[in-house]
Amino acid sequence: MRLLIFGPPGAGKGTQAQFISERYSIPHISTGDIFRENIRNDTPLGQEAKRYSEGGELVPDAVTNAMVQARLSQPDAQNGFLLDGYPRTTNQAEALERMLPEGTGLDAVLNMIVPENEILERLSKRGRTDDADDTILKRLRIYRETTEPIAEYYRGRGILVDIQGVGTIEDITGRIINAIEKNT
Ligand code: AMP
Repeated sequence: MRLLIFGPPGAGKGTQAQFISERYSIPHISTGDIFRENIRNDTPLGQEAKRYSEGGELVPDAVTNAMVQARLSQPDAQNGFLLDGYPRTTNQAEALERMLPEGTGLDAVLNMIVPENEILERLSKRGRTDDADDTILKRLRIYRETTEPIAEYYRGRGILVDIQGVGTIEDITGRIINAIEKNT
């Protein structure tokens, strides 16, 4: 199963991704987590990513695409994966398409829908270094301008599934599982 979880920062993608990844025995590939781990270990990739992520900017496509390509070529991703936080630009969506050989395209794109006021409230409570007020607003603006249009690209391909992302964590997980069973 090849899945993508899509939605604004604070939509609960990471939380839900852990459940889905366990249930379907597919690796959870979060570009944000990979960048954070590299930043923690002060690798060259981490030093590059830090320049952008600290201020809420996107890491350049070339860097991000190369990292995802390397991750998707690992043995554990050959029979499926759940991508989280990627793609975030049209360039990345096109790059992803090229990375997936004929017949191994995405089965579904889970589009997490959460109202803006709820997102702001959740992010202000999370306390990550990139969750400071002005950084939150910048990340949301980049999401709306650059990332959200990708949803329509996937809708056009008939693989976008809208998930209402408000409610208890268990309710939302249930909705996601129903949607996966129905659409794949
Ligand atoms: P996230 O945890 O997904 O919100 O990602 C944290 C930060 O990592 C983002 O604010 C970006 O700086 C960077 N990042 C994660 N995924 C991507 C991506 N697909 N493209 C560019 N930058 C990314």
